[in-house]
Amino acid sequence: LPTERELSVRLGINRSTVTAAYSDLRASGFVQSTQGSGTRVSETLWGDTPKRGLNWHSYVSGGSFVPTLAIVRRVREIAAAPDTVVFSRGELSADLLPSDQLSALLRELTLSMPLDYANPKGEAETREVISAHLKEQYRVNAAPDEILLTSGAQQALHLVTHCLLNPGDAVGLEGPSYAYSRSLFVSAGLRLFQMPMDEHGLIPEEVVQLYNKHKIRMIFVNPTYQNPTGTTLSLSRRRRLLELCEERRIPIVEDDPYSLLALEGAAPPPLSLKALSSGGGHVLYMGTLSKMAAPGFRAGWIVAPSGVASRLAEAKQEMDYGYSTILQEVTKLYLTSGVWQGHLADLRQALTRRRNRMLTALQEHLGNRAEWLVPQGGYYLWCKLNRKIPDGELVREMEAHRVAVMPGSVYGAEGSSLRLSYAREPENRIEEGIRRLAAVLRRL
Ligand code: PMP
Repeated sequence: LPTERELSVRLGINRSTVTAAYSDLRASGFVQSTQGSGTRVSETLWGDTPKRGLNWHSYVSGGSFVPTLAIVRRVREIAAAPDTVVFSRGELSADLLPSDQLSALLRELTLSMPLDYANPKGEAETREVISAHLKEQYRVNAAPDEILLTSGAQQALHLVTHCLLNPGDAVGLEGPSYAYSRSLFVSAGLRLFQMPMDEHGLIPEEVVQLYNKHKIRMIFVNPTYQNPTGTTLSLSRRRRLLELCEERRIPIVEDDPYSLLALEGAAPPPLSLKALSSGGGHVLYMGTLSKMAAPGFRAGWIVAPSGVASRLAEAKQEMDYGYSTILQEVTKLYLTSGVWQGHLADLRQALTRRRNRMLTALQEHLGNRAEWLVPQGGYYLWCKLNRKIPDGELVREMEAHRVAVMPGSVYGAEGSSLRLSYAREPENRIEEGIRRLAAVLRRL
C-alpha cells in the first residue's frame, strides 16, 4: 500500500487523516505494518500466502463468497483471549445448554429411520413433530408438506437467497439487522436497503418507499427480540406491514429464533407475522433450536408454500443430501420428550437475571455515556453511545481491557452503538464486564 505521505499527497487530504485511517485499518485487522517494509493488506484476509507460484488469492477473491467483515473476526479473536468478558457472542454459555438432558436422551435413542440419505425435505415423521411444535408453541399452522428441515436457520436463509432471488435484486431489511444475513445477501449480489427502526421495531411505511424507489423483491425481518437491537415489532405495525406487503405482493422472510425467550415479567410477544397473515402464503417463516437448546444441534426449518419448500429441498439435496437422519431422530426425541419445556423455563429465568444484572451495572457505570433499550426477551441489549467512536479505536481498547462487544457498524447501524449479549457470561461476571466497558469508553 502507498505510504501515508504518498497517500496524503495523492488524495490531497491531511496527513493526520491518513494516519488515523491506517491506524483504524490496522486495529481492525485489515492491514499490517512492519518496520522498514511498509504497510500491506493483511495476509490473514486472504488465508494462505502464495506458495510455489500458486496464487490462491486469485481463486479466493474470484469466488462469489464475500466473507464477514474483518472487524467481526477481530472481535472474535479478542473474545477468545483468556479472561475476556464476552458480550459479543450471541450464544448461550455452556452452563445454559441442555447437555445433561440431551445425553440422557441419546442413551435412549433407537434409530427408527433408515440410515440412507434422508428425504431432502426431512423425514415425514420429523416434519410432523415440527408441525405440532409450531402449532403448540408459536400458533403457526404448517402442514408437514410445507416444512423443510435445514441445517440451522442460516441454511434456510441461504436457500431462500440463492434459489428465489437473483444477483442485483433489491431487498429490504431492518436497519440495523442480523450480521450474517447481511454478509449472505452481499455474497449473493443483492442490493440491500435498510428500513429505519425505533423501539417498536421497523417503520412499516418504509416498505412503500423502498418498493416505489427500488422495486424491492423481498423483505427480511426478525420481528421478535431482534438481533441486534432486542426490539419487538408491535402488533399494530405487524398488521400494517403485512397489509402493505400483501398489497404490493412483496414476500416476507420472517426469521424467528428468539420468540420463545420472553423474559420474566414481560408481556408475551405478539404473534408472528406468519401466524397473523391471512393464509400465510406471503411469509416464509424460519425457525431453529439454536437459541433455546443448542446451536451445535443445527436443527432449523423453514415453512413455505409446499411447492416452494420442495424447490428449496431440491437445492438442499444438491448442497448436502438433506438434514442428518441421526440428528432428526434426536430432534424428534427432544421435542416429543417434553424435557425441553423445563429447560426453557430455567433458561428464561437465567437470562432474566443476567439482563437485570447488566441493566444495574450499566446504570451504575455507563449512565452518563450511553442510552440503551431494555430488552423484554432474547439475548441482546442495544446501547447507543453519546459520542461517535471509530471502530478501530474501540477494538484496540477492548483488547487492552479484555472485554468484547460488537460495534453497531457490523449490523449496518449509523452512529456509535454497541450490541451487548447477556447470554454468554455468568451473572457474577457481568458487572466486571460493564466496568471494563466503562473504562474503555473513558479512554476514548
Ligand atoms: N437468525 C438470527 C437472527 C440469528 O441471530 C441467528 C444466530 N445467531 C440465526 C438466524 C442462525 O441460527 P442457526 O444457528 O439456526 O443457523
